[in-house]
Amino acid sequence: MPHCNKKMLSFFLTTKCNLCCIYCYNAKTRNEIKEHTLPFEIAKAGIDWYFEKNDSRHIRFYGPGEPTQEFELLKKITDYAKSHPNRGENVTVEIQTNGIFTKDIREWALNNFNIMWMSFDGMPDIQEHNRPLNPLYSDVFEHRSSADVLEDNVRWLISNRENRNLMVGARVTITNANVNRQIEMVDYFYNLGIRYVWTNPLFYSVGKVPVCIDEKKKQSYNFKMESYVDNYLDAYKYAKTKGVFWGSFLTINFDGESSYHCRCCTPLSAPHLTPDGYISACDMVVLGAEPYHMNPFIVGKWNPSTKAFELYEDKIKQLNSRCSTEMEHCKNCVAKLHCGGYCLGETVNETGKLDGQNLVKCKAVRKLFEELGTCQPYKYLHP
Ligand code: SF4
Ligand code: SF4
Ligand code: SF4
Repeated sequence: MPHCNKKMLSFFLTTKCNLCCIYCYNAKTRNEIKEHTLPFEIAKAGIDWYFEKNDSRHIRFYGPGEPTQEFELLKKITDYAKSHPNRGENVTVEIQTNGIFTKDIREWALNNFNIMWMSFDGMPDIQEHNRPLNPLYSDVFEHRSSADVLEDNVRWLISNRENRNLMVGARVTITNANVNRQIEMVDYFYNLGIRYVWTNPLFYSVGKVPVCIDEKKKQSYNFKMESYVDNYLDAYKYAKTKGVFWGSFLTINFDGESSYHCRCCTPLSAPHLTPDGYISACDMVVLGAEPYHMNPFIVGKWNPSTKAFELYEDKIKQLNSRCSTEMEHCKNCVAKLHCGGYCLGETVNETGKLDGQNLVKCKAVRKLFEELGTCQPYKYLHP
């Protein structure tokens, strides 16, 4: 199923976070602004609006910080959606979390989530290097490491889920530290009980200007994409022999045909509510008030006076028209219906244009497509 079929309402719950990841895509912004948390009033109105206009009853919690940092709000939103008179009984709940939460949270998670993607970079030495605990939270977790807390939560959730409809998977950022260790990671996750993994090659963080005019950022980025592709292919084949799904962000549309890359092109079927009261089309644009070059992705806003969402129709149309069958560089590409013109968020962040091109990613997508071709529908779509 092409990734654009992932229909859901996402809540970008809060900017609060208990980790200090070295590559945090918005750490700089988050540290510069005051903390923001999505008001319940907007979340509630978002559910009413989304349920009225859409068949999907899938809801999802995501950044810009760690959603479980606002646990009471997360529970309240879930309860509201699940008890909604408009088919609330069909609600399914997904979260992308860093997995660093306390025992009371994991007990609730066991009974309320259906899909839990753990942002997890693999073996403890890498996890510790890439995703260390924020020292301010050291006491809460009894001075344990982030790897220790995460492993413990994952093992506990998997060993206690019994016949519940709950999948606990990993969403792995691949950096130069783990690019050559993908087979080792397959074994590591397998031993923890994880059977679904999506890997994402490191991408540029979002700043105030596109990367193409940010020399410092360009120079500090160093990722061996060819090595990622080669190691990914080996790990993919090895994982298959163990019954583990080893996915790549570059292959998210290999299981179907679409000229769209993802839900970002159809934002009203998969809106994301930001903590500051905007509707975003993309996971990379988590605050709406000052989106800078990522402005094309802010497609609406909560109006506190009218208590309704205002939609920016021109921007929605612009996203609707961004497809691989229309862009010059995609028209003759062998992978055009299985790539959809690549990730809009990364493209705009890097080139400043919705129809820009990243030649490194194109080469990698095509190589993966030549090697792997199309496949059966993915059971769990990339977050
Ligand atoms: S868990 Fe997410 S939000 Fe928190 S520091 Fe890491 S990347 Fe940033
Ligand atoms: S980050 Fe890329 S894949 Fe994710 S929603 Fe944005 S455009 Fe789509
Ligand atoms: S690989 Fe590149 S050229 Fe081909 S569809 Fe994707 S973005 Fe377009």
